[in-house]
Amino acid sequence: MSSMNGSRVAAMREVTQRPVRITVRPEENGILQPTSVWFGMNTFGLRQMRAKLPKDVYKKLAASIRLGKKLDSEIAPVVAQVIKEWAMSRGVTHFTHWFQPQTGLTAEKHDAFLNFDENKLPIETFTGEQLIQSEPDASSFPSGGLRATWEARGYTAWNPASPVFISETGGVKYLCIPSVFIGYNGEALDEMTPLLRSSDVLSHRAMELLELIGDSGVLRVNTTLGVEQEFFIIDRSHFALRPDLVMAARSLVGAPPPRGQQLEDHYFGGIPERVQACISEVEHELYKLGVPIVTRHNEVAPSQFEMAPIFEDTDIAVDHNHLVMSVLRKIALRHGLQAIVHEKPFAGINGSGKHCNWSLSITSDNQLDGTNLLKPGKTPHQNIRFLVFLAAVLKGVHKHAGLLRAGIAVSGNEHRLGANEAPPAIISAFLGSGLTQVVEDIAAGKTSPKNAEQAMLKLGVAKLPEVEQDNTDRNRTSPFAFTGAKFEFRAVGASQSIAFPVMLLQAAVAEALGEIIEQLKAELKTGKSTDDAALKVAAKAFKESTAVRFEGNNYSDEWVVEAAKRGLLNLRRTPEALAQLRTESAITLFKNTHILTDVELESRYHVRLERYVKDILIELHTIQQMIDTQVLPAAYAYLGTLAASAGQGAAAGINMQPIVDAANSVSKLVATLQKKRAELAKVITKAEHMHDDLGGQAGYLTTTGCETMAEVRDAADAIELTIGDEYWPLPRYREMLFPV
Ligand code: ADP
Ligand code: MG
Repeated sequence: MSSMNGSRVAAMREVTQRPVRITVRPEENGILQPTSVWFGMNTFGLRQMRAKLPKDVYKKLAASIRLGKKLDSEIAPVVAQVIKEWAMSRGVTHFTHWFQPQTGLTAEKHDAFLNFDENKLPIETFTGEQLIQSEPDASSFPSGGLRATWEARGYTAWNPASPVFISETGGVKYLCIPSVFIGYNGEALDEMTPLLRSSDVLSHRAMELLELIGDSGVLRVNTTLGVEQEFFIIDRSHFALRPDLVMAARSLVGAPPPRGQQLEDHYFGGIPERVQACISEVEHELYKLGVPIVTRHNEVAPSQFEMAPIFEDTDIAVDHNHLVMSVLRKIALRHGLQAIVHEKPFAGINGSGKHCNWSLSITSDNQLDGTNLLKPGKTPHQNIRFLVFLAAVLKGVHKHAGLLRAGIAVSGNEHRLGANEAPPAIISAFLGSGLTQVVEDIAAGKTSPKNAEQAMLKLGVAKLPEVEQDNTDRNRTSPFAFTGAKFEFRAVGASQSIAFPVMLLQAAVAEALGEIIEQLKAELKTGKSTDDAALKVAAKAFKESTAVRFEGNNYSDEWVVEAAKRGLLNLRRTPEALAQLRTESAITLFKNTHILTDVELESRYHVRLERYVKDILIELHTIQQMIDTQVLPAAYAYLGTLAASAGQGAAAGINMQPIVDAANSVSKLVATLQKKRAELAKVITKAEHMHDDLGGQAGYLTTTGCETMAEVRDAADAIELTIGDEYWPLPRYREMLFPV
């Protein structure tokens, strides 16, 4: 009997015999050094700047970083010189502008410090110009038509708010300069530029609003972001034997095992030793890069985990989340493991999200410094301020719920949204019962805004902090939940570059703030006190955004019906979600906030839709190859064995009818799969012929394409569950997900 699962068996042998790679951390006199000793050692942050830069230069740089301003080009040569010396002292030979094109990943092109002086002698140089700007000639990135419209040239420019850092890989160290990527006329070719623009607009408007309600002296309002990252870790040798995981990062075939997550025994369980060693090394590398990861735990699905940092300023948190994903992938390989950040790598068990905890924070030289605007305060005025900002967030999320949905529209998230573990495709906001009562009373006009202070006291809003601390009725099903001092945008997918969804959120809130400011100005003209006027305006925003607030179970069927009644969007598929980027209200939003021009917005739509089409086509081709070269041949071999033994048995006079029956049922499964596989081939051909019509292609793939793929999978999974184990060539779910 020939066996087809030789490599599967070899992989299992490797997995069971793989030793734990113990993470080595710096020690002094045999004692492990505390994290604070090495934290940030590979970054040139404020601490190093202050130690190494001339005082006046440091002051200028620190001020521009604090207030989100551009770098003064006069100080660039000195800063570059100091950074070069620091980097060279650490063994660095090359530098790169490190940026985020619209690929969902980061990009880099290394240049050596090596140069020649006037005597043609080799020296190391690094100019202010090289620090600030570079022209990588990076013309092969998706631009959604942007660069065809203008120039092919793209520039990268340092974002000094995000510290330069040293990347270490394969024993090589190089300097990374976090940068934006823009076209010749400043067009945003990347994810970071629009995010920074949205932070700026939001800051300006928040400052104007604060000024109007009497909170003066604010220098900037930063947004803060804490990103909880979920991921799977499986053995590398299993991963390598799965063409689907290698090509598409998700399993396209694979029958569910009898035990998945139903015993609820993985969540918060002990982290398996090999994984623990891996995660510790990931944390160690991230600490060197100044990424403040503080939380790690098992997630719900078997082999699923989560890491979370202390929150930071949003643009830094976005850079850091990219570092988390890339360091995780890299270090896992050192441990013979594979980290998977896809939203739904395994069917039938939980997928992975990326909860984006988001808030607004004041920078000031007065007592307001560090105030979290989404945290209830102690005095009536502080709480009115909190309520106005809360109102702005709800107003923005209500009006632009479609945009927020577009922001999380990637092919992987399609398998997750609406499934049992993830928020549904309907965007709604959760506040908790205490705060909901307050908001509803205000919206219903139960508080006379004539005396806001008394109203606050009557409502018990002066006691809001306690209300929130007691707020144990956490709603884990909400895509956008208030959790005491921040909103948690939970519907974001684990693999996503979060600059885009966060930018959309910030744009929506910025627009709402703009309208609130206008309304407030009008109210103030009528002679109201600032607090009275602010409460009145908040009441209006609470009222108009009522539909978007939902406290119930977002996974329930009733919510789908209820949401439809409320007129909320329920966009299940990626193409229809992305179409939200093209609505009149989206175009107006971006024009008025100057975050994206029409062409930049259109390019984002185009890049994302094209990416979706490519993702699905890759999946279709991959499953087709797996059916042809693995699943069907396995079934043929098994069938061949049955047929041969039936023949032999019959010749010996044995009743072989049971074997014939078994062979016939396998034969039926094979016929079904062959039929589905033929349909699949037609679907692929048809889809590829539609290449001149991106919208049509996406529409076809998201319906017929995905449905056919699901049918092919069902047929393949039926074969997996029927044929002899030694014939099955692919690592099974139980082998991949339950480490031995
Ligand atoms: P929860 O109990 O709601 O999960 P945690 O305190 O564990 O809250 O925080 C979850 C994430 O939210 C962490 O990454 C944390 O740093 C982040 N976070 C907390 N406060 C803020 C804030 N003001 N702004 C942004 N993120 C925050
Ligand atoms: Mg979580």
